[in-house]
Formats: sequence, structure tokens, C-alpha cells
Amino acid sequence: MRIGILGAGQLSRMLALSGIPLGFTFSFYEPNIEHCVNGLGSLIHKPYTDEKALTNFVNACDVITYENENIPVDTAQYIASLKPLYPNVLSLQTTQDRLLEKTLFEKLNIQTVPFQKIDSLHELELFLEKNSFPVVIKKRRQGYDGKGQLKLSSANDLSLLTDDFLNNCIVESYISFDREVSIIAVRNSTGDCRYYDICENEHKNGVLNQTFNKINDPMFKQAQQYINRIIEALDYVGCLAFEFFQKEDQLFANELAPRVHNSGHWTIEGSHTSQFENHLRAICNLHLGNTESKGVYQMINLLGKIPDSASLLSLDYLHLHHYQKSERANRKVGHLCLPVNPITQSYAEQLKKLLSV
Ligand code: ADP
Ligand code: MG
Repeated sequence: MRIGILGAGQLSRMLALSGIPLGFTFSFYEPNIEHCVNGLGSLIHKPYTDEKALTNFVNACDVITYENENIPVDTAQYIASLKPLYPNVLSLQTTQDRLLEKTLFEKLNIQTVPFQKIDSLHELELFLEKNSFPVVIKKRRQGYDGKGQLKLSSANDLSLLTDDFLNNCIVESYISFDREVSIIAVRNSTGDCRYYDICENEHKNGVLNQTFNKINDPMFKQAQQYINRIIEALDYVGCLAFEFFQKEDQLFANELAPRVHNSGHWTIEGSHTSQFENHLRAICNLHLGNTESKGVYQMINLLGKIPDSASLLSLDYLHLHHYQKSERANRKVGHLCLPVNPITQSYAEQLKKLLSV
């Protein structure tokens, strides 16, 4: 079975690393020159609009998937006309546009913070007549890791805005949440569905900093009901991640990711089957692996640069994932995963010291 992946970043890398032991082979299609899939399969560097290159890529594969939701819908439609593409085009189209995504939440009775489509300062002012500061403006498309977003704390901040920036945006109320959580579900095309523990996610400047899985979390049932509504509405196949804000005992839907997700990296060590392996099983319509966790795990993103690997590896229990990416401020270049249970205070202090260098 040859699996084609659109994109060749760390998610593609970890998909391939989990699929190679199962006997899968991989082809990657990546418009950018930078990638981190060296040695993991064949790689085509062409734009998503190059029909000839896409055709060659697709013809060599049995099934196609993607590692990010910013694939042009036309490209996805073309691929889907030739070979199975999972998650399907509707899932991609809905989740790559914050307005379509939030409108789906409304339609399915999934609670969100107040939001509205805006294209101009005037439309923003109409929202502000009914809703108070702070608010967040978000580009409808292409945003990630907090990019393409602007928080406005008061009317003074309106002077920062131009109609140009406000074109193709949504505005939403800023919520002072108690915590951020996510759930990841995986479904194959027979309809079998499994769920990982809810994760508690800590972001810094819009970028995920660390994640803990929460066994038997009181919000699990609510999150599961919400993600099931999405899966059904989109006839979804593959891993799906759903991010929420929690305030008291209420969940507010933030966003979906139609793919494996950063808050699920702990599943490589912490679950009986990782999100990466289960995504591949799902798109190949195989039996899904067990998603129970082996305990509570902590995942820490490494941003910008990898601290001294040898020192990190001198710590028992710690797993290092080095993405082989060039170092750049705030870029996700690797992650750590460790079981929480055996960690003592002196261990935690040692780790903190290594991470702060
Ligand atoms: P992305 O992850 O695609 O960059 P998000 O909408 O998830 O975009 O925003 C990134 C982070 O910014 C969130 O995880 C959260 O910490 C913060 N954030 C975004 N929207 C809001 C909001 N309406 N209220 C409070 N915090 C928010
Ligand atoms: Mg997010």
C-alpha cells in the first residue's frame, strides 16, 4: 500500500514513521523546498496547481491524505476524482475557512463564543454595538499558531486596523477561559470510531506550549458528543481534532483540524495506538487500534531550537522527537514526551533547566 501525503512537514514525518513498520510506503507532495521527510519516501516539489505533477503523484499512490488544511479545494477535488482522498473534500473545505467552520458549529447546536463575518471596519463596528471588548479578529483562511489574528482590548486599538486587513475575516468575543482542551477522534470508512483522552493544552502567544492527557475528564462526554456531530455531518474519515475553550462547566468550540494534531503527539508513547498509526489505519479502512492511554503523559513543544540532545537524553523516561528542521524563532522543531507519574521535583527542575538554555 502506497500512501500519498500532501505536505512534508513534521506531521507527514510522524505519519510515515508510524506507517513504515506496518509495511506502508510513502510519497509526499510539497510545494515548499523545506521539508522534513528525508529518507521516508519519494518527494515531489511542485505547486498544488501543477496538474501533470499531481496526476503522476496520485497515480503512484493507493490513497491520499494531507497534513494541513490549507490545500486548495480545486486541488483536492481533482485528486478525489482520481483516487480516494481522506478526509474528504467537504471536510477540507469546511475546516480551512473559519467562517464555514463556525457556521457548521451553529447549525449543529455546538456552542461557540459570539462571532460574525467581517470585511470592513463598519462591519466590525456593528459587531461591537452588540458585543463588548476584548475581541479577536481572525483571518478566515491560512492562519495557524496564532498567525493572522489580532486581539483588540479597547476602542483605542481600532486605529491599528485597515480595511485591507479586515477583508475576509471573522471577529469573535475574547473569552477568559478556565482552560483549553481538545479531543481527537478517528473514524474509518466502515464507520468505526475511537477517541483519545481529552487533552489540556497550554498555549503561549497563540502557539501550543504543552499538553497533558486527562484520563476520565469530566468534559469528555460533552466533547465526544460534539465531535460526533461533526463526524456525522461531514461523513468524516481519518483523525479529527476539535479544540475548545472551557469556562466553568461549559465548552465553547474554537476550531477543528482535519488531520493528526499537535495535541495528540503524546499518543506515540502514551496510547496503545498513536494518532498517526490510527489515521493511516482509518484512511486504509483497516481495523482501528486501541486508543486507551497508558497513563498521564506530558508533551512539550520545542520551539526555535532543540536544546542539547545528549543532555535531554540523559533524563530517564524522556522521549525526544527531533523533526530535522532548520532552526527559526518560534518554529516547531521538535517535541518531548514523558510519563508524568514517575517524575520527581528534582527531575522536573533538571528538565526545566535544560529547556531554558
Ligand atoms: P490557530 O491555532 O489556528 O492559530 P486559534 O483560533 O486556535 O488559531 O487561536 C490560537 C490561540 O489563541 C488559542 O488556542 C487561544 O489560546 C487563543 N485564542 C484564540 N481565540 C480566542 C478567543 N476568542 N478567546 C480567547 N483566546 C483565544
Ligand atoms: Mg488552534
